[in-house]
Amino acid sequence: MTTPGLQLPPVRPETSVSADALRDAVPGSHVTVVGGARSGLSAARLLARHGADVFLTDHGAAEPGVAEALAKDGIASEFGGHTARALDADWLVLSPGVPSTSNLIQSALRQKRPVYAEIEVASWFCPAPIVAVTGSNGKTTTTSLIGHVCAVDGRRHVVAGNIGYAFSDYVDDLDAETVVVLEVSSFQLDHVATFRPSVAVLLNITPDHLDRYDHDLARYAAAKFRLFDNLQPGDWLVYNHDDALVREHVLAWSAERGLVPVAFSADGEPSPGAFVRDGDIVLDLPAIGTPPGGLSPTFRPETLMPTSDLALPGRHNLYNSLASAIVARAVEIRSDVVRESLTSFEGVPHRLETVRTVQGVAYVNDSKATNVNAVWYALESFSATDGGVVLIAGGRDKGNDYGPLVGLVEDKVTGIVAIGEGAEAVERELGPHTPRVARADSMEEAIQYARLMAEPGDTVLLSPACASFDMFENYEDRGDTFKRLVHAL
Ligand code: ADP
Repeated sequence: MTTPGLQLPPVRPETSVSADALRDAVPGSHVTVVGGARSGLSAARLLARHGADVFLTDHGAAEPGVAEALAKDGIASEFGGHTARALDADWLVLSPGVPSTSNLIQSALRQKRPVYAEIEVASWFCPAPIVAVTGSNGKTTTTSLIGHVCAVDGRRHVVAGNIGYAFSDYVDDLDAETVVVLEVSSFQLDHVATFRPSVAVLLNITPDHLDRYDHDLARYAAAKFRLFDNLQPGDWLVYNHDDALVREHVLAWSAERGLVPVAFSADGEPSPGAFVRDGDIVLDLPAIGTPPGGLSPTFRPETLMPTSDLALPGRHNLYNSLASAIVARAVEIRSDVVRESLTSFEGVPHRLETVRTVQGVAYVNDSKATNVNAVWYALESFSATDGGVVLIAGGRDKGNDYGPLVGLVEDKVTGIVAIGEGAEAVERELGPHTPRVARADSMEEAIQYARLMAEPGDTVLLSPACASFDMFENYEDRGDTFKRLVHAL
C-alpha cells in the first residue's frame, strides 16, 4: 500500500558522490537542519563549526533558551513552523524524529535538493572505524553490550546514535584508534548516501514503525538494508541467519557485491559465523586481524563459553551476545575478554529488568517492549520451571497483531492485566487464552490486580507490546512508574 505521488528516498546511494567530496563542500554551503531536538541541534553545531551557513527549522515550539544558544553559535533558527527560508538551501539535514513524509522534506526532494540523515553528515567528519547496529529489536542492548566489551578490553570507544548521544557531538574529537559503536534506526538509514560502517550488524526485521512506512514491510526492510549499501569487500557484514527475510536478502546482496557475510545463529551452524553447539557458543570466524573472506588459514572453530554463562537471559539476548562476539573479533578484541564481558554485562534498564521479589513473586520491567516481537522474546525467556507469568500489557497500540503470542500465552501466562488504549484489543485477542484477565486504569491498579493473580514462584512481567504515550511521557516514564510502585509494595 503506497501513497500515490509519494517520493521515496533513492534505494541506492548516488555512486558519484564520496564522503570526502561532501565534507570538502561543507564550508560556505547553505544548509537547513530540520528538527531541533538533540541530534538536529548537534548536526547544526557540527556544520556551523565547519563553516557552513546553517539554518535550523522546527515546526514545534522551542525549549527556552535554545534559539538564543544557537544564535551564539552563529546559527539562525525558526520554531513553530517552516517558512520559505527553510527551502533556501543547497541541502538539508533531517532529524530522525521528523518523518520523511513531512511536507517540507517532500518539497525539498521534489526540488532535487539532497536530504541527509544526521549520521550521514557526522560520518563525513569521522576518522574512526564505525560499528553500526540496526534491527527492529535489540539495538540498544547490543550497542551497549559491544560498548561493554570495548570497556572491559580498555579500548577507546564511544557509544552514540539512536541510543541517546548524537554522533555529531563526538566526531571532531575522534581519532582512528577509537571505535565508534553506533545505534542506527531505520529513520536515519532512510537518508544515508555515503555512510559506510566497517562493521554493520543487522539483528532482525519484524513489523514496527510501519506507520512511517505506509504500512509496507518491504519499505521498512529496504531502509534497514541500506546499512549495507556502501560496504566493500573486507568490511564486516554481520547478520541474523535465523531471520529468513534478513538471510535471503543478505546472501543475494553479498554474492552480488563480492562480500563474505558473517552470520550468527541459534539454530544452524553457518560459517563464517557464531552459533551454538551442545550448549556452547562456538566461533567459526577469521582470526584476529583477518577480514571476512581474507586469505587466512582455516582455523578450527573455537568454543567460546557455555550459553548458560551469558549474563543476559533469553533467546533474544543469545542473538545479541553472538552478534557482539563477532563484532569483538572484527575490532580485534581477544576471546578471553569477550567471555568475561558477556558474563559480566548488567543489561540495560527497561529491558527484562528484574526489579524486586515480593512474597515470592518476581517483578520484571520490560517497558521497552513496544511491539509484539519483543513480548514474544520476553515470554520465551521464561522456562517452565520459572512458574507462571502474569503479564501487564497494552498502551498505544500501533495496529498490533497479537496472534504470534497466543501459543506462549497458553503455555506460560496465568493471568493478563490489560492497560491503556490497547486494553480492549489485548483482552479480546489474548484473554481467551489465559485463565484470568483484568482491565486496569492505571499502573497502580494494574500492579494490584497482578499481585492478586500471582502466586509465589510466579513473575509479574510488564511487557506492553505497545507505545506508552497514552498514559506516560515515554517508555522510561512507564518503566520508572512500574519500578517505583513495585518498590513501594
Ligand atoms: P531497540 O533499541 O532495538 O528498541 P532494545 O535493546 O531497547 O532494542 O530492546 C527492546 C525490546 O526488545 C526489549 O523488550 C528487549 O527485551 C527486546 N529485545 C532485545 N533484543 C532483542 C532481539 N534480539 N530480538 C527481539 N527482541 C529483543
